[in-house]
Amino acid sequence: MPAEPTDTTLILGGPRLPDGRTVDVGLADGRIRAVGTPGSLLPRPGPRGHGPRGGRVVDLTGWLLLPAPVEPHGHHDTALTAPGPPPDPATLPHAPDTAVPAPPPGRGGNSVLRRVTEAALHHLSHGATAQRGHIRVGDPAGLHALDAALRAARSLTGLTDLRTTADAGPLTGRAAADGRALLRDAVAMGAAALGGLPDADPDPAGCLDLLIAAADDHGLPLDLHTDAGDPILLDRLAAAVTGHRPGVVIGPCTGLGRLAPEALARTADRLALAGVTVALLPQGPCAPLRTGPGGARGRAGGDTSRTPPDTAPLARILRTAGVRVIAGGGALRDAANPVGRGDPLEAACQLVSRGGEDPVHAYHAVSDRARAALGLPPVRIEAGFPAELLAVRGTCLPDVLSLAYSRLVIHRGRIVSRTSAVREYCDIGDGAATELPRQSTG
Ligand SMILES: [Zn+2]
Repeated sequence: MPAEPTDTTLILGGPRLPDGRTVDVGLADGRIRAVGTPGSLLPRPGPRGHGPRGGRVVDLTGWLLLPAPVEPHGHHDTALTAPGPPPDPATLPHAPDTAVPAPPPGRGGNSVLRRVTEAALHHLSHGATAQRGHIRVGDPAGLHALDAALRAARSLTGLTDLRTTADAGPLTGRAAADGRALLRDAVAMGAAALGGLPDADPDPAGCLDLLIAAADDHGLPLDLHTDAGDPILLDRLAAAVTGHRPGVVIGPCTGLGRLAPEALARTADRLALAGVTVALLPQGPCAPLRTGPGGARGRAGGDTSRTPPDTAPLARILRTAGVRVIAGGGALRDAANPVGRGDPLEAACQLVSRGGEDPVHAYHAVSDRARAALGLPPVRIEAGFPAELLAVRGTCLPDVLSLAYSRLVIHRGRIVSRTSAVREYCDIGDGAATELPRQSTG
């Protein structure tokens, strides 16, 4: 039966779906209202005395339409701080923070607000209509990075759904009282999830217990920033959350890559049984600088003494063991990864090219599985589902994971970002070319 376009306000004409079908998709009120054969949803004259039925049409012939990806593990507060050449004043406010004085504590942090906003827009331009950022709470940042992230999230409403995880500092030892107070304040301010850095705490197990208890008390999801290289600590976590806390996420889990195969297999079984989601960062490390055990500056959740192991191969190993694996961008041009792209399609690409994942599972890791980890409703390209979509110029999933320049992002049924790429080749056929023939690609 042909779909009825009665109340659609935006019609995506002719995109291809990953299953190979070419369709029209009608959107209204933030949801997918109809999916029909090509041409079936196009506006047509209405009954006598009425205007045309349907809505605005966007021609997506030659594009692949996907459920929008998610950025589940961003670092918006440190994003865009990588050292580089002095910014050109003409490019401000898009330049990194290097030439901008740090805001005084307690004044809200306008430079952080600007970078969080710019980072969120960067992720959005790649397709992430929902994002979760690990925001530092404590040490020099106090609460103003979180305050800035929450203000950025409010200002971006309608463009992207930016959620914050409060990454608490040390919760045991000398700083315990301050750390716990800041965590309570972060919850009161509106943090959407509780994070923490048990690896950097003087008492990792004690820190873990405190975070689990705090998440229980406040009814918030737990998103731990951890190296996950200590199977005993992971056992403790798994035992505490098995069966009653499906929302636990741990990342970036570089330490899992250092475990012997037998230990990794045992740990994977424990995580799968406990329903813990593992967030990997195949594009590279993330590591906000922290004060670690004994006061040494180190990388929380990372390892400063060695090159971090490649986590991309872990995705397939953990998934086949039954662990829910998601992938994020992590560092976005900060000290941990000055070339971090913050691109979900790049993350999926790396899972395929270096991790041996197949493209379908790789895209699940950055889209529907990541949505579920953030507690978001599922998206399928069927009537009734949320209109959270990404169109990429290309014909199939491997195609767009390989080359994905041109993108169109839809959030709540509206086009919120468009990136267009044009590639030109010089005509050398007769050696007399005077002009580049133009072809839109990618
Ligand atoms: Zn991280």
